[in-house]
Amino acid sequence: MSSPMLSRRTALLGAAALPMAAAATSANASAPMLGLAQENFRRVKVGNFEVTTLLAGTRPVEDPHKIFGLNVDAETFNSVSAAAGLSTAAAQFFFTPTVVNNGSELVLFDTGLSGAATVQALESAGYTADQVDKVVITHMHGDHIGGLSTDGTPTYANAAYVTGAVEFDAWSGTDNENFDGKVAPLAEKTTMLDDGGSPASGITAMAAFGHTPGHMAYMVEDSGTQLIIGADFANHYVWSLAHPEWEVRFDMDKAAAAATRKRMLDMMAADRTAFIGYHMPWPGIGYVEKNGDGGYRYAAHSYQLML
Ligand SMILES: [Zn+2]
Repeated sequence: MSSPMLSRRTALLGAAALPMAAAATSANASAPMLGLAQENFRRVKVGNFEVTTLLAGTRPVEDPHKIFGLNVDAETFNSVSAAAGLSTAAAQFFFTPTVVNNGSELVLFDTGLSGAATVQALESAGYTADQVDKVVITHMHGDHIGGLSTDGTPTYANAAYVTGAVEFDAWSGTDNENFDGKVAPLAEKTTMLDDGGSPASGITAMAAFGHTPGHMAYMVEDSGTQLIIGADFANHYVWSLAHPEWEVRFDMDKAAAAATRKRMLDMMAADRTAFIGYHMPWPGIGYVEKNGDGGYRYAAHSYQLML
Protein backbone atom coordinates (compact mmCIF):
# COMPACT_ATOMS: atom_id res chain seq x y z
CA MET A 1 0.00 0.00 0.00
CA SER A 2 1.40 3.43 -0.84
CA SER A 3 0.12 6.89 -0.18
CA PRO A 4 -0.91 9.05 -3.16
CA MET A 5 2.00 11.38 -2.30
CA LEU A 6 4.52 8.59 -2.42
CA SER A 7 3.11 7.28 -5.69
CA ARG A 8 3.36 10.67 -7.28
CA ARG A 9 6.91 11.14 -6.06
CA THR A 10 7.90 7.73 -7.29
CA ALA A 11 6.35 8.46 -10.66
CA LEU A 12 8.17 11.79 -10.93
CA LEU A 13 11.47 10.28 -9.92
CA GLY A 14 10.94 7.46 -12.34
CA ALA A 15 10.19 9.81 -15.21
CA ALA A 16 13.17 11.98 -14.43
CA ALA A 17 15.53 9.09 -13.96
CA LEU A 18 14.59 7.24 -17.10
CA PRO A 19 16.44 9.30 -19.76
CA MET A 20 19.56 9.39 -17.61
CA ALA A 21 19.46 5.68 -17.08
CA ALA A 22 19.03 5.14 -20.80
CA ALA A 23 21.94 7.49 -21.57
CA ALA A 24 24.17 5.83 -18.98
CA THR A 25 23.43 2.41 -20.39
CA SER A 26 24.24 3.41 -23.92
CA ALA A 27 27.45 5.23 -22.88
CA ASN A 28 28.58 2.18 -20.93
CA ALA A 29 27.98 0.01 -23.93
CA SER A 30 29.76 2.21 -26.45
CA ALA A 31 32.93 3.40 -24.68
CA PRO A 32 35.81 1.41 -26.14
CA MET A 33 38.51 -0.26 -24.06
CA LEU A 34 41.49 2.05 -24.52
CA GLY A 35 44.39 -0.02 -23.20
CA LEU A 36 47.13 1.08 -20.81
CA ALA A 37 48.00 4.76 -20.93
CA GLN A 38 50.60 7.16 -19.56
CA GLU A 39 52.15 10.46 -20.59
CA ASN A 40 55.53 10.17 -22.33
CA PHE A 41 57.42 12.97 -20.58
CA ARG A 42 57.80 14.35 -17.06
CA ARG A 43 59.54 17.63 -16.24
CA VAL A 44 60.90 18.60 -12.84
CA LYS A 45 63.37 21.24 -11.77
CA VAL A 46 66.76 20.96 -10.16
CA GLY A 47 67.49 24.47 -8.95
CA ASN A 48 66.91 26.55 -12.06
CA PHE A 49 67.59 23.65 -14.43
CA GLU A 50 64.71 21.89 -16.12
CA VAL A 51 65.08 18.12 -16.17
CA THR A 52 62.69 16.09 -18.32
CA THR A 53 62.44 12.32 -18.44
CA LEU A 54 61.31 10.87 -21.76
CA LEU A 55 59.51 7.55 -22.08
CA ALA A 56 61.13 6.03 -25.16
CA GLY A 57 59.53 2.63 -24.66
CA THR A 58 58.03 0.14 -22.23
CA ARG A 59 57.28 -3.55 -22.55
CA PRO A 60 56.73 -6.64 -20.42
CA VAL A 61 59.55 -9.19 -20.21
CA GLU A 62 58.82 -12.76 -19.15
CA ASP A 63 60.65 -14.74 -16.48
CA PRO A 64 62.62 -11.91 -14.84
CA HIS A 65 64.60 -14.36 -12.67
CA LYS A 66 66.53 -15.16 -15.86
CA ILE A 67 67.80 -11.55 -15.67
CA PHE A 68 67.80 -10.51 -11.98
CA GLY A 69 69.13 -12.51 -9.04
CA LEU A 70 71.16 -14.98 -11.10
CA ASN A 71 73.06 -15.93 -7.92
CA VAL A 72 69.96 -16.73 -5.81
CA ASP A 73 67.57 -19.68 -5.99
CA ALA A 74 63.94 -19.49 -7.14
CA GLU A 75 62.60 -19.65 -3.60
CA THR A 76 64.57 -16.54 -2.57
CA PHE A 77 63.64 -14.70 -5.75
CA ASN A 78 59.97 -15.58 -5.33
CA SER A 79 59.78 -14.57 -1.67
CA VAL A 80 61.51 -11.19 -2.22
CA SER A 81 59.18 -10.56 -5.16
CA ALA A 82 56.08 -11.60 -3.21
CA ALA A 83 57.02 -9.31 -0.32
CA ALA A 84 57.08 -6.40 -2.78
CA GLY A 85 53.86 -7.48 -4.49
CA LEU A 86 55.64 -8.25 -7.76
CA SER A 87 54.89 -10.92 -10.34
CA THR A 88 57.64 -13.42 -11.02
CA ALA A 89 56.05 -14.34 -14.36
CA ALA A 90 56.88 -11.02 -16.02
CA ALA A 91 58.38 -7.62 -15.31
CA GLN A 92 57.55 -4.36 -17.03
CA PHE A 93 60.64 -2.73 -18.55
CA PHE A 94 60.99 1.00 -19.12
CA PHE A 95 63.46 2.93 -21.30
CA THR A 96 63.95 6.49 -20.16
CA PRO A 97 66.34 9.00 -21.74
CA THR A 98 66.60 12.35 -19.92
CA VAL A 99 66.99 15.84 -21.31
CA VAL A 100 68.45 18.67 -19.18
CA ASN A 101 68.11 22.38 -19.98
CA ASN A 102 70.73 24.15 -17.87
CA GLY A 103 69.77 27.55 -19.28
CA SER A 104 72.51 27.59 -21.91
CA GLU A 105 72.36 24.13 -23.47
CA LEU A 106 69.87 21.35 -24.06
CA VAL A 107 71.64 18.11 -23.13
CA LEU A 108 70.16 14.70 -23.91
CA PHE A 109 71.33 11.68 -21.91
CA ASP A 110 71.01 8.47 -23.96
CA THR A 111 68.85 7.97 -27.01
CA GLY A 112 66.61 4.90 -26.60
CA LEU A 113 66.41 1.86 -28.83
CA SER A 114 65.51 4.00 -31.82
CA GLY A 115 65.41 7.66 -32.74
CA ALA A 116 61.70 7.85 -33.48
CA ALA A 117 60.28 7.07 -30.03
CA THR A 118 62.71 9.35 -28.22
CA VAL A 119 62.08 12.23 -30.64
CA GLN A 120 58.32 11.73 -30.24
CA ALA A 121 58.64 12.05 -26.46
CA LEU A 122 61.02 15.00 -26.86
CA GLU A 123 58.43 16.76 -29.03
CA SER A 124 55.65 15.98 -26.55
CA ALA A 125 57.87 17.67 -23.97
CA GLY A 126 58.09 20.83 -26.10
CA TYR A 127 61.50 20.41 -27.78
CA THR A 128 62.65 19.54 -31.27
CA ALA A 129 65.52 17.21 -32.17
CA ASP A 130 67.33 20.16 -33.78
CA GLN A 131 67.39 21.97 -30.44
CA VAL A 132 69.53 19.30 -28.77
CA ASP A 133 73.00 20.81 -28.30
CA LYS A 134 74.72 17.79 -26.79
CA VAL A 135 74.04 14.08 -26.57
CA VAL A 136 75.71 12.33 -23.65
CA ILE A 137 75.99 8.54 -23.87
CA THR A 138 76.22 6.88 -20.44
CA HIS A 139 77.26 3.52 -21.90
CA MET A 140 77.07 1.66 -25.17
CA HIS A 141 74.30 -0.88 -24.87
CA GLY A 142 71.81 -0.88 -27.73
CA ASP A 143 68.93 0.58 -25.71
CA HIS A 144 71.06 3.67 -25.02
CA ILE A 145 72.81 4.25 -28.37
CA GLY A 146 70.18 2.92 -30.78
CA GLY A 147 68.63 6.35 -31.31
CA LEU A 148 71.89 8.15 -32.15
CA SER A 149 71.04 7.80 -35.83
CA THR A 150 67.92 7.14 -37.83
CA ASP A 151 68.34 5.41 -41.21
CA GLY A 152 72.06 6.21 -41.10
CA THR A 153 71.57 9.94 -40.44
CA PRO A 154 72.29 11.55 -37.05
CA THR A 155 68.95 11.97 -35.25
CA TYR A 156 70.15 15.16 -33.53
CA ALA A 157 71.52 17.20 -36.43
CA ASN A 158 73.08 20.01 -34.42
CA ALA A 159 74.43 18.00 -31.50
CA ALA A 160 77.93 17.44 -30.25
CA TYR A 161 78.53 14.14 -28.43
CA VAL A 162 80.09 13.30 -25.10
CA THR A 163 80.91 9.92 -23.62
CA GLY A 164 83.31 8.22 -21.22
CA ALA A 165 86.80 7.56 -22.56
CA VAL A 166 87.00 4.16 -20.85
CA GLU A 167 83.64 3.14 -22.35
CA PHE A 168 84.56 4.28 -25.85
CA ASP A 169 87.90 2.49 -25.74
CA ALA A 170 86.37 -0.70 -24.36
CA TRP A 171 83.95 -1.07 -27.28
CA SER A 172 86.10 0.19 -30.15
CA GLY A 173 87.76 -2.60 -32.06
CA THR A 174 85.52 -5.33 -30.62
CA ASP A 175 83.52 -5.81 -33.82
CA ASN A 176 80.37 -4.79 -32.02
CA GLU A 177 77.65 -4.09 -34.57
CA ASN A 178 75.89 -1.47 -32.44
CA PHE A 179 79.09 0.42 -31.67
CA ASP A 180 80.29 0.27 -35.28
CA GLY A 181 76.90 1.36 -36.65
CA LYS A 182 75.89 4.00 -34.13
CA VAL A 183 78.88 5.36 -32.18
CA ALA A 184 81.89 5.02 -34.49
CA PRO A 185 80.43 7.22 -37.29
CA LEU A 186 80.10 10.09 -34.77
CA ALA A 187 83.58 9.65 -33.25
CA GLU A 188 84.96 12.87 -34.74
CA LYS A 189 82.17 14.88 -33.13
CA THR A 190 82.58 13.09 -29.78
CA THR A 191 84.38 14.43 -26.72
CA MET A 192 85.70 11.85 -24.25
CA LEU A 193 85.72 12.48 -20.54
CA ASP A 194 86.79 10.75 -17.36
CA ASP A 195 85.48 10.63 -13.79
CA GLY A 196 84.87 14.22 -12.64
CA GLY A 197 84.70 15.60 -16.20
CA SER A 198 81.94 17.98 -17.15
CA PRO A 199 79.86 17.62 -20.33
CA ALA A 200 78.01 20.90 -19.67
CA SER A 201 77.75 23.56 -16.98
CA GLY A 202 76.35 22.14 -13.72
CA ILE A 203 76.80 18.51 -14.81
CA THR A 204 79.63 16.22 -13.66
CA ALA A 205 80.57 12.68 -14.71
CA MET A 206 80.75 10.00 -12.00
CA ALA A 207 82.54 6.74 -12.79
CA ALA A 208 80.07 3.92 -12.18
CA PHE A 209 81.91 1.05 -13.87
CA GLY A 210 80.68 -2.54 -13.91
CA HIS A 211 77.42 -2.66 -15.84
CA THR A 212 79.72 -1.94 -18.77
CA PRO A 213 83.49 -1.30 -18.57
CA GLY A 214 83.17 2.51 -18.56
CA HIS A 215 79.55 3.08 -17.52
CA MET A 216 79.07 6.67 -16.28
CA ALA A 217 76.45 8.35 -14.11
CA TYR A 218 76.08 12.14 -14.08
CA MET A 219 75.51 14.54 -11.20
CA VAL A 220 73.26 17.47 -12.08
CA GLU A 221 73.50 20.29 -9.57
CA ASP A 222 72.14 23.81 -9.41
CA SER A 223 71.42 26.23 -6.56
CA GLY A 224 72.08 23.56 -3.93
CA THR A 225 69.82 20.87 -5.41
CA GLN A 226 71.32 17.67 -6.77
CA LEU A 227 70.01 14.89 -8.98
CA ILE A 228 71.97 11.93 -10.32
CA ILE A 229 71.28 10.59 -13.78
CA GLY A 230 72.13 7.05 -12.77
CA ALA A 231 71.67 5.27 -16.10
CA ASP A 232 72.00 1.49 -15.50
CA PHE A 233 73.87 1.32 -12.19
CA ALA A 234 70.69 -0.31 -10.79
CA ASN A 235 68.07 -1.68 -13.14
CA HIS A 236 65.15 -2.75 -10.97
CA TYR A 237 63.56 -0.82 -8.15
CA VAL A 238 63.23 -3.87 -5.90
CA TRP A 239 65.58 -6.61 -7.13
CA SER A 240 68.54 -4.22 -7.52
CA LEU A 241 67.85 -2.00 -4.49
CA ALA A 242 66.78 -4.49 -1.82
CA HIS A 243 69.62 -6.77 -2.93
CA PRO A 244 72.38 -4.83 -4.68
CA GLU A 245 74.49 -8.00 -4.55
CA TRP A 246 72.05 -9.89 -6.78
CA GLU A 247 73.71 -10.58 -10.11
CA VAL A 248 72.13 -9.11 -13.22
CA ARG A 249 72.48 -10.76 -16.62
CA PHE A 250 73.25 -7.46 -18.36
CA ASP A 251 76.06 -6.47 -15.97
CA MET A 252 79.25 -7.24 -17.89
CA ASP A 253 81.42 -7.36 -14.75
CA LYS A 254 79.02 -8.63 -12.10
CA ALA A 255 81.25 -8.09 -9.07
CA ALA A 256 82.23 -4.56 -10.12
CA ALA A 257 78.60 -3.71 -10.93
CA ALA A 258 77.45 -4.90 -7.49
CA ALA A 259 80.18 -2.89 -5.75
CA THR A 260 79.25 0.22 -7.74
CA ARG A 261 75.56 -0.32 -6.98
CA LYS A 262 76.22 -0.59 -3.26
CA ARG A 263 78.48 2.47 -3.23
CA MET A 264 76.03 4.64 -5.17
CA LEU A 265 72.95 3.52 -3.23
CA ASP A 266 74.77 4.16 0.03
CA MET A 267 75.73 7.67 -1.07
CA MET A 268 72.25 8.46 -2.40
CA ALA A 269 70.58 7.23 0.80
CA ALA A 270 73.00 9.19 3.02
CA ASP A 271 72.69 12.41 1.01
CA ARG A 272 69.00 11.95 0.07
CA THR A 273 69.94 12.67 -3.52
CA ALA A 274 67.24 12.29 -6.13
CA PHE A 275 68.12 10.01 -9.02
CA ILE A 276 66.79 9.09 -12.41
CA GLY A 277 67.16 5.43 -13.35
CA TYR A 278 66.95 4.61 -17.04
CA HIS A 279 65.03 1.42 -16.20
CA MET A 280 63.21 2.50 -13.03
CA PRO A 281 59.40 2.51 -13.15
CA TRP A 282 58.10 5.43 -15.18
CA PRO A 283 58.61 8.40 -14.77
CA GLY A 284 61.93 7.09 -13.50
CA ILE A 285 62.61 9.61 -10.74
CA GLY A 286 63.08 8.54 -7.13
CA TYR A 287 65.03 8.48 -3.91
CA VAL A 288 66.90 5.76 -2.02
CA GLU A 289 66.30 4.81 1.61
CA LYS A 290 68.06 2.20 3.76
CA ASN A 291 65.65 -0.65 4.51
CA GLY A 292 67.31 -1.69 7.79
CA ASP A 293 68.13 -5.07 6.33
CA GLY A 294 71.42 -4.15 4.70
CA GLY A 295 69.59 -3.25 1.52
CA TYR A 296 67.72 -0.26 0.16
CA ARG A 297 64.22 0.81 -0.71
CA TYR A 298 63.05 2.90 -3.66
CA ALA A 299 60.88 5.89 -2.83
CA ALA A 300 59.28 7.27 -5.97
CA HIS A 301 59.53 11.04 -6.43
CA SER A 302 56.33 12.77 -5.46
CA TYR A 303 56.64 16.56 -5.54
CA GLN A 304 60.05 17.35 -4.06
CA LEU A 305 61.41 18.61 -7.38
CA MET A 306 58.34 20.66 -8.18
CA LEU A 307 58.89 23.15 -5.37
ZN1 LIG B 1 69.86 -0.09 -20.37
